[in-house]
Amino acid sequence: MFSLPEAIGNIFKTLKKNHFEIYLVGGAVRDLLLNRKPENWDFTTNATPDDIQALFPDSFYHNKYGTVSIPVTIDQENKPSIQTIVEITPFRKETSYLDLRHPAKIEWAKTVEEDLKRRDFTINALAYDEEKIIDLFQGQDDLKNKLIRAIGDPDQKFQEDALRLIRAIRLAAQLGFLIEDKTRLSIEKNAQLITKISWERIRDEFLKILKTNHPAEGVLFLRNTKLLQYLLPELDVCFNIPQKSPKRHHRYDVGTHLVMSLKNCPSSDEITRFATLIHDIGKAQTFKRDYQTGIITFYNHEVVGEKLALKIAERFKLSNQKKEKLRRLVRYHQFTVSEKQTDKAIRRFIRQVGKEYLQDILDLRFADRIGSGAKPDSWRFKHFRQRLVEVQKEPFKVTDLAVDGYDVMKILGVKPGPIVGKVLNELFQMVVDKKLVNDREVLLKEIESFKTIKIS
Ligand code: ATP
Ligand code: MG
Repeated sequence: MFSLPEAIGNIFKTLKKNHFEIYLVGGAVRDLLLNRKPENWDFTTNATPDDIQALFPDSFYHNKYGTVSIPVTIDQENKPSIQTIVEITPFRKETSYLDLRHPAKIEWAKTVEEDLKRRDFTINALAYDEEKIIDLFQGQDDLKNKLIRAIGDPDQKFQEDALRLIRAIRLAAQLGFLIEDKTRLSIEKNAQLITKISWERIRDEFLKILKTNHPAEGVLFLRNTKLLQYLLPELDVCFNIPQKSPKRHHRYDVGTHLVMSLKNCPSSDEITRFATLIHDIGKAQTFKRDYQTGIITFYNHEVVGEKLALKIAERFKLSNQKKEKLRRLVRYHQFTVSEKQTDKAIRRFIRQVGKEYLQDILDLRFADRIGSGAKPDSWRFKHFRQRLVEVQKEPFKVTDLAVDGYDVMKILGVKPGPIVGKVLNELFQMVVDKKLVNDREVLLKEIESFKTIKIS
């Protein structure tokens, strides 16, 4: 029925030869029916973990779910082959749940039918035995109609494991599907249960939503199902913040603008997309409307935004590197694009954002423009891109240091004179020699040290 990679065919063969039942199950069957390349290959079987391990010498097994992992190589046509892990799990059923996350006890099941019943959505409960599809819940119809539907009673499914609330939305965004009415209403009714789930698991699903082809729709699903207020309350309130005012080009409220920006983000990087989604998040706190003119302003929203971005990064348990990237993109997204800017100002911008994130912040800015209803690329923007490249080609000068003569005079308590230039030159040399980084804090500290040793 499907033409499967050889390594996958071998797994079927090995288990069948030893008289076990073996089924490909879950996402892989769904993806094959949709003509998408499966991300991973999961099997279910009536063999025990010990049976499976005995058949595959390089397999490993260390979890209470009975899942045995087997390293395999998937060959691809005209492309390098992929090393991946195939997982084989004995038929399971789930009985009672302890804490909306973990089944109280795992019970083995005798039949594949029982195993399919414990799964979350109809399109994820398809099994394939190389001849036919086993489809107990009309999952193939839902695939055709592009619907995410919980198996059985949706309230019960979500109350058993609240991660399914966000999985439903992730799948919808990934596949470009809608959520069937009863399932959607049940997500809304049970939304609060998401607070029982660990942030690590929420983060993984949320970042997956951002990486899909429909991230903006995903965020709107989160909002419409009331999940957003638990995940990103700072964003949820932005939908009530207007920005249409005299002398301003904005069409949308802040929340809609942020979602529209995400929709138009040219980068596929999850953190660049995350930053695009929250770049104006400081606007809710900085909103001011002048009662006489009606003009709305958001002074310093990027500084407030930076604080919120750090808080959000902590909540989502992002790594330090991702957190710092998110912070920089939000903090500096308001950069000036003007032909009047000096080289020095452009160099400072590059330093603040970091060379490695320049393309990301340009992508964010592009998304921001389109997300406000502006034309794709102004000549000014093109010119600015050009300057970024040019400025980096020019040699680095004393005036490009992150500190200047005033800093030296203030810290050392000296008046203008040759000593100021001497200190700056020494700092410059140390930066050129890579003994110091051109960072304001670092250089200010270094100037301090001139107090005692270097001035005589
Ligand atoms: P993808 O791998 O493309 O992200 P997937 O559907 O394979 O999607 P996995 O998280 O790999 O998702 O899960 C594999 C299968 O296990 C699912 O298709 C589903 O049948 C089942 N499953 C996963 N998580 C749950 C859950 N929380 N509740 C019930 N069944 C689940
Ligand atoms: Mg999977």
